[in-house]
Amino acid sequence: MSEAQIHSLPARLLAWCGIGNGLRRASGHCGPPAPPATLGRASLAPLKGWREIARGLEGPVVPPAAFRRISGLLRVLRPDAVERGRLALLLDLVGAGRPLEQLADMLPEIAEWRLLLARNLNEAEDLGLVMVASSRVRLSRAGRERLAALEAEGFSREAWLFIERCLRERPEAICSSCAAPNRIHWYWDEFDCRRCGRRNATATGSVVAPPRHRPEPHAG
Ligand SMILES: [Zn+2]
Repeated sequence: MSEAQIHSLPARLLAWCGIGNGLRRASGHCGPPAPPATLGRASLAPLKGWREIARGLEGPVVPPAAFRRISGLLRVLRPDAVERGRLALLLDLVGAGRPLEQLADMLPEIAEWRLLLARNLNEAEDLGLVMVASSRVRLSRAGRERLAALEAEGFSREAWLFIERCLRERPEAICSSCAAPNRIHWYWDEFDCRRCGRRNATATGSVVAPPRHRPEPHAG
């Protein structure tokens, strides 16, 4: 791979994203605010319980205990853990190697996927985890080892796509005072009713799950 190819990567990806700057600001639009991508030490181990937590969200009305579990999981995954999970997702999707264009098109249900990709691909390259040549990206040996370590810790593609879905979903919580529905996030612990202003604790109220649209990558 030539140096010119390496250095032109961000510009090409940013062109696909249709943006020239403002990456960091835009990438913070969903979920908890995120710092610059790093491979910090925040653990992905809490992901190991994700299937049971997901089962608790299957009905149209989410029991308070199930709400507390998803809320607790999302909050224990602090922004640096979210960054690690997104980097792990990138490494997983790169897998045995893919054209950059295909990678950019893999998760259309995640609105800012291309933004995250551009950002995390730069980071992964800087860390020596991926290599880009002739518009194809593949994992380096260090990348394969890092992905294996992240999987041993608790990461899986399925688990992480569940987290991404939950970070974006807007369930409805019913106000305990006036019964108005309020759009909340799974990770909120309280909200002020949009109708009467009463402060409600989400963990004790009635929460209605949003319609499900499970994100699945389009290609293996
Ligand atoms: Zn109210």
